[in-house]
Amino acid sequence: MKYVLVVLLAIGLVSCNSAQSGMRAGKTMTRIDYANTITDSELKTHLYQFADDKMQGRMTGSDGQKMAAAYLKNFYISEGIAAPKGTDYYQKIPAEYFNSKSGSIDSENVVAFIKGSEKPEEVIVISAHYDHVGMKNGDIYNGADDDGSGTVSILEIAQAFQMAVKKGQGPKRSILFLHVTGEEIGLYGSKYYTENPLFPLANTVCDLNIDMVGRIDPDKGDNHNYIYLIGSDKLSQELHDVSELVNTTYTQLELDYKFNDDNDPNRFYYRSDHYNFAEKNIPIIFYFNGVHEDYHKPTDTPDKIEYELMAKRAQLVFQTAWEIANREGRITADKL
Ligand SMILES: [Zn+2]
Repeated sequence: MKYVLVVLLAIGLVSCNSAQSGMRAGKTMTRIDYANTITDSELKTHLYQFADDKMQGRMTGSDGQKMAAAYLKNFYISEGIAAPKGTDYYQKIPAEYFNSKSGSIDSENVVAFIKGSEKPEEVIVISAHYDHVGMKNGDIYNGADDDGSGTVSILEIAQAFQMAVKKGQGPKRSILFLHVTGEEIGLYGSKYYTENPLFPLANTVCDLNIDMVGRIDPDKGDNHNYIYLIGSDKLSQELHDVSELVNTTYTQLELDYKFNDDNDPNRFYYRSDHYNFAEKNIPIIFYFNGVHEDYHKPTDTPDKIEYELMAKRAQLVFQTAWEIANREGRITADKL
């Protein structure tokens, strides 16, 4: 325990002062102010749109998925956040790639990019899948938690970073906002990205993957102030330590590592998009609220989401990304 504390202190955090440098007298914004622009009400507004019946459960290749992709693209355009070079916010994936699982219809990852001010070639990926399982027997599977919650969290995180850019406090390293498709039918979108990366994998610092962060695991009882973290220490002790210290300093959630156990029968580490990055030796953190009675049911609807808690969890991801983007040294896969 003591050893851990010493290590954490030695690592240190990017100082608040550096977040304020470049600001003139008057209204100074800190990383805390930017994090606080991630609000429960904005997340709610987005999620009621994104998990609406009109999206038809966002099955890969379907009209609903295409509509969801357009929603994301339009958001980035309206915020003035750029598409990565050579894309129009879409990374097209040919129908054949899905092995007929999408009914032989092509699909697309949605991507947006904030270029780093000092080390633009080093890229932090923040990912969430935006597809879901569609419709069955006349029921629409809205997928509000899975993974509307991760999707709209990324929108708010991107908006917070873009506000920092506008104030001359943009991240030193680049950030790629990666909304992947085809997760529910086999992690296809993230697999395609790691096989056809828009930025070299060698320069990809880490992947922070958000998949289900709007609900509460019934096993947690009255303890709602938590998030399960999976994978943070598997490839990089440094990433894990930074994540812990950021949480202690800024968000004070209980970081629960129950599902990080290699022997956990749920094998969640292998079950969302971060795994395709981990396979390429890129350090990852998977943020997850656990399963609940509406998991993969038509009843996973936006009225059941805990928006204040979700905002706090999204702020943790934002603060972690901010730290990794702005700290002096690059996070490395030090456990390989
Ligand atoms: Zn999911």
